Parts: sequence; C-alpha cells; structure tokens
Amino acid sequence: MTATDTAATPRRRIDREALRQRYREERDKRLRADGNAQYVRLKGRFDRYLEDPYTRVAPRPAKTDHVTFAFVGGGFAGLATAARLVEAGVRDVRIVEKGGDFGGTWYWNRYPGAQCDTASMVYMPLLEETGHRPSEKYAHAPEILAHCRRIGETFGLYDKALFHTEVEALTWDEARSRWTIRTNRGDAFTAQFIGLGTGPLHVPKLPGIAGIESFKGHSFHTSRWDYAYTGGDPLGAPLTKLADKRVGIIGTGATAVQCVPHLARAARELYVFQRTPSSVDVRANAVIDPSWFASIATPGWQQRWLDNFTANQAGGQATEDLVQDGWTDLARRIRERILALPKEARTRESMLAAFEDADHEKMEEIRARAEAIVHDRATAEKLKAWYRQLCKRPCFHDSYLQAFNLPATHLVDTDGKGVERTTGNGVVAAGVEYRLDCLIYASGFEVGTEYRHRAGFDPVGRDGLALSTHWKEGMRSKHGTHVHGFPNAFFVQPTQGANFISNVPHNLTEAGRTIAMVVRHALDNGFREIEVTREAEDEWVRLLLTSAGRMTGGADCTPGYYNNEGQDPGPAARLNVGYPAGATAYFSYLDGWRRDGRFEGLAFR
Ligand code: NDP
Repeated sequence: MTATDTAATPRRRIDREALRQRYREERDKRLRADGNAQYVRLKGRFDRYLEDPYTRVAPRPAKTDHVTFAFVGGGFAGLATAARLVEAGVRDVRIVEKGGDFGGTWYWNRYPGAQCDTASMVYMPLLEETGHRPSEKYAHAPEILAHCRRIGETFGLYDKALFHTEVEALTWDEARSRWTIRTNRGDAFTAQFIGLGTGPLHVPKLPGIAGIESFKGHSFHTSRWDYAYTGGDPLGAPLTKLADKRVGIIGTGATAVQCVPHLARAARELYVFQRTPSSVDVRANAVIDPSWFASIATPGWQQRWLDNFTANQAGGQATEDLVQDGWTDLARRIRERILALPKEARTRESMLAAFEDADHEKMEEIRARAEAIVHDRATAEKLKAWYRQLCKRPCFHDSYLQAFNLPATHLVDTDGKGVERTTGNGVVAAGVEYRLDCLIYASGFEVGTEYRHRAGFDPVGRDGLALSTHWKEGMRSKHGTHVHGFPNAFFVQPTQGANFISNVPHNLTEAGRTIAMVVRHALDNGFREIEVTREAEDEWVRLLLTSAGRMTGGADCTPGYYNNEGQDPGPAARLNVGYPAGATAYFSYLDGWRRDGRFEGLAFR
C-alpha cells in the first residue's frame, strides 16, 4: 500500500495505512491481560453501591400463588411483552423487578443529563398505543421513566407487579407444566409461562483498583446518583451542593459524556479521569413540534418510523430517512460508497474497504470537531478518539466537549492506563494524587460475564438441565427467544434475533409480539407447553454461523465491552450474532413466521 491509499470513491484522501497504524498503537496502550477481571463485583463486597436511593423498600407478604405469565425484569422488555400479552387478552401477568418501579435502566439511571441516544420516535416503545408525543427528538430520562410508568398504567401492570424483588431461582416443574419462581423476598409462586428480560447493562461495576474502601470522601456509581449530596434533580436543576466541592469522575463513556457538562457547571473543581476518549458527534436535539407531530401521527406511524430507521441502517431499501441522525448518517455514507462501486467490483473486500473509508471519514470529522470546540490544544488532542466508530459505543453531545473550556474542568488523561488507585483523600492517576471531596464512578456495567452472574439465577429446565449447561458452548436458541429444554420460557433480548443494537427496543417489542401470539395460540388450543424442538434450535444455530459476524467491536478495536475488553472471547462468541441477512430481513422474516400461524419449529403439547 502506498502512504496515501485512497478509497474507490474518495471524497477526501484518506491515509488508510497511517490511520490503521495509529489505531493499533492506541489499542495496544490500553490492552491488559486481565480483561473483564479488572473490574470488581459489587454484590457482597460493595453492596452499598447497589442500594436504591430513589424508593424506600416496603415490606409485603410473600407470594405463593399462581399466575399465567411471570416476567423477570420491569424494563422495556418486560413492559413491551406484558403490553402485547394484555392486548392479546392475557391479563394475568406479573412482572418481577429489582427496582422500586418500572423502567429498568431508566429507573436506575437518573444522573443529570441522562437522555436517550436514539431518537425518541423510534426508541420509546408503544408511543402510539399510549398516545404519547415525545417532547424532544432525544427525550431526557425523566420523560422516558414517566413513559415506562404510563405503559404500566395503560396496560394495568401495576396490580400484580412485585418491585424491589430479585429472582433467585427459576425451576421447571415437569409434573405440573409450570415454572416455580423463588425470590429474595421469600416468594415461591408458579407461572405457566415465564419471560426473561433482565437487560444487558444492569449490574454496575467499579474499576478493580486498590483502595476503593479507603476513600474517605463521598462516592457513588452514576446509576445510583446521590442528589441528596449533589443537590439538583434528574430534571436538570443545578447541582448546587457541589459549589464548594472538588469532584472526580472516573470514566468517559456514554454516561459520563451526558453528566460531565452538569458537573462542570456546578463543581468548584471537576477532574475527569480518562482512559479512552469517546467519539462525540453532533447531538442536534430539538423540541418536537405538536402540529408537525399531529401531521405525521396517522395510524401505524410508529411502525413506519421503526421500519424506516432499521431500513436505513440494516439492509433495507429506504428511499427516505425519517430520523436523520448520527446512526443513519454512518450507514448512509457506507451505502453511498458501496453503491458508487461498479456492480462488477462489489466484492467482499471492496465493500469492506468502502466501509472502512466511510468510517475513517466520519472519525476524522469527529476528531476535527474536538479540535474546533476545545480551546486548549493539548486537551483537544487528548479528547480525540483513535479507533473506528463502532469499536465503542458512539456518543452524541453538544456540550460535553465544550465543558472542557470551563476553567474548573480538568481532563486527567491516563494515556490508556486508567486510574491507579484510590487513597483516603482522592485518586492517583499517572503518579499524581488528586484530592477530592466526591468521587463518581461512571465505570459502566458488567457485560462480558456469564448470564447467570448478571441475572442472579440459573434457570433449571426440563430434566434438571441448567441454562448455564445448555449454553456452555455458547448461546443456543431459535430467534434468541425460544430455547430447547426450557418449555414455556421466552428470552427477550436482541442476540440471535435481529441483533439491532442502535435501537434495542425494536428487538424487544418484536419479541413481545411473538410471545403474545404463541401464548395466545397455546391457550386457545388447550396446550400446556410450548417448546422449540432440538432440530429447529440446531437449524437456527447453523444459520447464525453463516453470519459475517458483528459490525461492532473486533480484535483490532480498542478494548471495551464491545470486544470483551480486547481478550479472545472464545468460540462461544461466534454465536453472539444476529440473523445473517440483517435486521430488516429478520423483522420481515419474523412477521411472516408469525402470520403463517404454524410457528414452525415450536412444538405445542
Ligand atoms: P462504559 O462501560 O461505556 O464506560 C465506562 C468508562 O469507565 C469507560 O470510559 C472506561 O474506560 C472507564 N474506566 C473503567 N475503568 C477505568 C479505570 N481504571 N480508569 C479510568 N477509567 C476507567 O459505561 P457507561 O455507563 O458510560 O455506558 C454503558 C452503556 O450504557 C453505553 O455503552 C450505552 O450502551 C448505555 N448508555 C446509553 C445511554 C443512552 O442511550 N442514552 C446513555 C448512557 C449509557 P475505557 O473506555 O478505557 O474502558
């Protein structure tokens, strides 16, 4: 390759090889042998970081009754599934949720500035069914949490829900064709069907650095924001109690990008400890005009928007882009470059090269943005992200980079090494101790750990088969929903289905629709059990293995949860993929599979 290796259809000359080299160097700085083991588990050792600061735990008698459907998790997965069940006439639905209300991630994440990163029109589920008009293109967290409550109320889900309750055991009762659910509140009730929607990001983690116990100041994780200490509120009121405080925040991921501007405005001094910079693109939020909304919100509008958003990114033939944001922009650039290739030149290699060039172009713009916004040259350089855009979760914000222009905000870049330790007085990074009154962990959530660790239980299905045993060599399912050996159990999550990560709720609402239809079918026909056959599961897994793999993460990427912290994830990771033909094709296939009414691959008994 020459130094200036250009794309087939260059908009600007991209020094592809130089960029690759720079990306490798930055990745290598950050690579570490301990992978996921670098983080500490909170349960047991650091329980105080898990306590619910928002709702008091109310005593209640234990449940020993029977329900038709029990769902583990009261976030979007549980709400969307339960709503579809209620629509299908299955009203006896109990959601079990560890938080004090519905909302899942939106219950816990109330940090200042929390906001959805995908457009509300497609991100917020069941808008049409609940008659809600989002107030902004990217709604803030309080509105999303209120929407979760609205879904709960609209579909009558509160009466049976169990909050502040963690499932500890799920066991299939062969003789009675039902599940027994045991919880940390002493419940031992049964359900004919169960759904599992515990979410991918619900167990907070801290960096495994020495001295966390010894820090004498105040500290909390962003998913348990302590407004009593900081002042302010989730609606954005200023964090007035920080005016005389030296505050440190560890982490510069999607969460920190949203809350740093608020801390920067409020704290006496703010130290942002950075290991890897995020790519921070334009947000361009806007108020949703009621009259515009009324003009487009004709029956079926949300499904049209969902289909359009997906089609713009995942293999669809969209002629217009309704959402027009950072997600669809990258996809558009890739598509345009590929379409510009002569048909006969569209080999796998040339298409991957076109993808790479579109990515480089985008990332150059994002790096130029840091340079244009941040006044101090050295700080701007450190805020530049040197990796491909889908190596880490892309971020979008219009006041994060600007926060570093405030005199009280200090970027403490650790050159990929991370903070070293905590002392009684503060944090040591790059050999320097920063004295702090308050330390905030924006250090994310467990991702690469085993399902049973994150869920807190290991379902036991037919013949005493534990899910961890069935999935020893990797996840196995049909559609990511049905698992052989686990009758009447439904998994609600994206993997092995559409795997459409830029709008996770779309995956969940489709799974909810499927579950409601198959449960209705079973109830109408007097079937006690629904189970995917072994052959159908095997066949689905074989199909998944023809997939080209994930667009996110990869061994060349800077480490993070998208690529198992840069460690070889093992052969099981080959199964953490979606439908090979892409999300649009998957949703269309699934629609046909449901409409057909035979639910091929499922056995009803
Ligand atoms: P992340 O896991 O994305 O970020 C954790 C941060 O902590 C990273 O910057 C990481 O650095 C840093 N870190 C960890 N250990 C150390 C250390 N020892 N020293 C210094 N820094 C350290 O967590 P987030 O909570 O930011 O986001 C998690 C996910 O939640 C997002 O990816 C997104 O999917 C979702 N989210 C969605 C939002 C939305 O839709 N609106 C908003 C916020 C989050 P490094 O990068 O080097 O690992």
